[in-house]
Amino acid sequence: AKSEAQRYVDSVFNELKEKYAHQNEFLQAVEEIFISLVPVFEQRPEYIKHNVLSRIVEPDRTISFRVTWQDDQNRVHVNRGYRVQFSNVVGPYKGGLRFHPTVNKSIMKFLAFEQIFKNSLTGLPIGGAKGGADFDPKGKSNSEIMRFCQAFMTELYRYIGPDVDVPAGDIGVGAREVGYLYGQYKRIRGAHEAGVLTGKQPGYGGSLARKEATGYGLVYFVEEMLQDAKMSFLDKTVVVSGSGNVAIYAMEKATHFGAKVVACSDSNGYIYDPEGIDLKVIKEIKEVNGDRISTYVNYRPNAAYTEGCTGIWTIPCDIALPCATQNEIDGESARTLIANGVKVVAEGANMPSDLEAINEFLNNGVLFGPAKAANAGGVATSALEMAQNSSRIYWAFDQVDLKLHEIMKSIYAQCKQAAEDYGYAGNLVVGANIAGFVKVADGLLKEGV
Ligand code: GLU
Repeated sequence: AKSEAQRYVDSVFNELKEKYAHQNEFLQAVEEIFISLVPVFEQRPEYIKHNVLSRIVEPDRTISFRVTWQDDQNRVHVNRGYRVQFSNVVGPYKGGLRFHPTVNKSIMKFLAFEQIFKNSLTGLPIGGAKGGADFDPKGKSNSEIMRFCQAFMTELYRYIGPDVDVPAGDIGVGAREVGYLYGQYKRIRGAHEAGVLTGKQPGYGGSLARKEATGYGLVYFVEEMLQDAKMSFLDKTVVVSGSGNVAIYAMEKATHFGAKVVACSDSNGYIYDPEGIDLKVIKEIKEVNGDRISTYVNYRPNAAYTEGCTGIWTIPCDIALPCATQNEIDGESARTLIANGVKVVAEGANMPSDLEAINEFLNNGVLFGPAKAANAGGVATSALEMAQNSSRIYWAFDQVDLKLHEIMKSIYAQCKQAAEDYGYAGNLVVGANIAGFVKVADGLLKEGV
């Protein structure tokens, strides 16, 4: 017979499945977390009594707005903008903005939901949110990007503020976009409220090491996993998907720790460089030229470029770091990685492994670092940027990097401990979900209904 806790979790999930039947990504993220929480509800009946789960799984508000902008030929375009303010129990709403044609309510909600627990794990005062638009920045001119950002902020500004909701970057939104968004916010508000956005340019309110933080943090987290298993990065072969901020700085830190990174990708295909990827070339392609990763072979003739995204997981490696986007590793890719001897998988992107893939890793002795723990270094450093903005001071690169390193160690320790406490020793998925959740649930109880 099912326990009361199991029945409670099932009933909340079934209700949600009916209510949001078509929000696949959101339901996927919820399911993964709910499975982990059953042992918590078994030990904490007060959570059931106060219906904590239903209260956490429904966003505080979902804002959706029209964004109208003009391209360089003066044609008028309309996009849909979103901001999902999911939970401010732990601190002001916090989470990135994604500009990508696939953006919809389900994707915004899954990202905002994950963000609650990720942000809680950082130990810093930040709640959970996410936003963005179904705008495709690919092929747009700099002026078009600027006008889109201005139009987007003309709608968004009324919902955000340094103590209310603090957006940042995500896919398609980097320091350039944050700069344009922040400029428009300042014009409208008539005040220099630097803490309203994070990921700003250093020297203009931005924190040093924010750009590097997600990738570095991911590698710091993996370092903890490896150390616990009596391994290290030295001489390990690493495959990283993606070639944005997260991927580039994960590759940089892994290389720095003595690993050999042999592959990375963009949305069109992947490159394989058996001698080890030349990061100077990648930075030149991505950060200077804004070009496709396929051009890498022009600089390094021994490297190979292959069209398509999932092929990258057929390359044998010790450590796989998916840093591109959601659901990029399915059960089949997971089985290929395992057959090729992968030892560690840690998620730099948000929800890059689907449920089947996660189970394959866990059931086959692969060390698995889930996104909400492993990639929390980015948002943690955003919280450090907020702290610097509030105190009107800048910290040195090494100071921020040191704090980031400590935070990642602490997140790992929390996940490991929670997994042990609830009878799932070694399972960081369960550990991250429980450690992130309990703090939010306790806060919710203290606030009252
Ligand atoms: N988009 C990043 C994430 O998924 C960073 C969010 C932030 O810095 O607020 O956590």
